Amino acid sequence: MHSSDAEKVVAILKASEALRSGHYQYRSGHHGFTYIDKNNIYINPALTEQLAECLAAVLAPITNKFDVIAAPAIGGIIIAQSVARLLGKKFVFAKKDNGSLILDQIGFVDTLSGSNVVCIEDTITTGRTIHTLADLINTSGGYVVEKACLFNRSIPSQAVAAISLLDFDELSKLTDMSIWQQNDCPLCKAEIPLDN
Ligand SMILES: [Zn+2]
Repeated sequence: MHSSDAEKVVAILKASEALRSGHYQYRSGHHGFTYIDKNNIYINPALTEQLAECLAAVLAPITNKFDVIAAPAIGGIIIAQSVARLLGKKFVFAKKDNGSLILDQIGFVDTLSGSNVVCIEDTITTGRTIHTLADLINTSGGYVVEKACLFNRSIPSQAVAAISLLDFDELSKLTDMSIWQQNDCPLCKAEIPLDN
């Protein structure tokens, strides 16, 4: 993204103290040093809105290519709803049920059918959630034209293609973004307890 906008996003991350260092297990099961605590941003709706404005600006050049924005529960919904409002798009979300993502609300399925859709998540790590969402949209008869997120921390060797405010390389300038399979985690080997 434009460098001045990237600086604005970095400033929001720092102001909200959203970058936490320790020993974390992500939803994917991987371990790493850094947790991006989006809740520290969401606590402040004005900062959240600024991030939504940045993401809307990044998507503005392709706004004529899609009709609907879709998000997975929970964090993605908070940012995607604002982006949809800013761009004048319809908005649907998938909910969590017993740990699985489902998209079975009749009105949402009807909205997706035959529509071009952008999927928005807050953070992409392995891409599992946003890929599951894309599959659900395809099943509903929608067509995913783009994926987008605030923070794409997928590692370059297994990069998930998505528009982001900050990608792995940009985040790595701020903090150590290394992740490992649990079996290979040096923090586990050093018997450092997991942070919540
Ligand atoms: Zn570990």
